Amino acid sequence: MNEMKILVTEDDRPIMNLICTALKIHEYTYLEAASGREAISLCASHHPDLILLDLGLPDMDGTEVIRTVRQWSQVPIIVISARWEDNDKIEALDSGADDYLTKPFSVDELLARIRSVQRRMQYKDSTDGQSVFTNGDLKIDYAAGTVYCREQEVHLTPNEYKLLCLLAKNTGKVLTHTFIIDRIWGNSLETDIISLRVYMNSLRKKLGLSGSDALIRTHIGIGYQMIRV
Ligand code: CA
Repeated sequence: MNEMKILVTEDDRPIMNLICTALKIHEYTYLEAASGREAISLCASHHPDLILLDLGLPDMDGTEVIRTVRQWSQVPIIVISARWEDNDKIEALDSGADDYLTKPFSVDELLARIRSVQRRMQYKDSTDGQSVFTNGDLKIDYAAGTVYCREQEVHLTPNEYKLLCLLAKNTGKVLTHTFIIDRIWGNSLETDIISLRVYMNSLRKKLGLSGSDALIRTHIGIGYQMIRV
């Protein structure tokens, strides 16, 4: 039996059935909500470990659900949206969603995302408060402010270091351009997306990561995500 309790929010019955069948087969416990109001209420009463959230709901916008839930809960939220809802997706991530899936999605992809959240939560519990971060070949010593990749020290500029720490502290979460720029430069001028790309390229090069490396994933038009490897 899987210990994870998942709240599925979806007003499209066939998609809801598809998701719930997959969860049932893999022995997840789940709750169903067909509206935003129902999702908020079930989240408050049942404390799920993960929320799957459709953005286009009949009574309110999915992002409103995220903002409401985030007032009291840090439960991981994976947004499920149609491709034409790209702007909504960015807004959802900025409102506090962790990750997204675009419809149509495969059940395997959905299950992989759920497992990734599960791994991240377990890892977070065991490492919270530690001063050394490790992920694959990457090691960050927060106390000393040093970074190692494959046992070799990597010399980063202050902004590259801030960028890496921001990604590391949010491992698994998709960070939008606006979120990153806000945290590192303190503003979100459109032109800064270009600077961010330059910093990211330089950071990847110094860490010896190619563009296709799994550690830092580029979400085109959206942002970046450090993957737990
Ligand atoms: Ca919908």
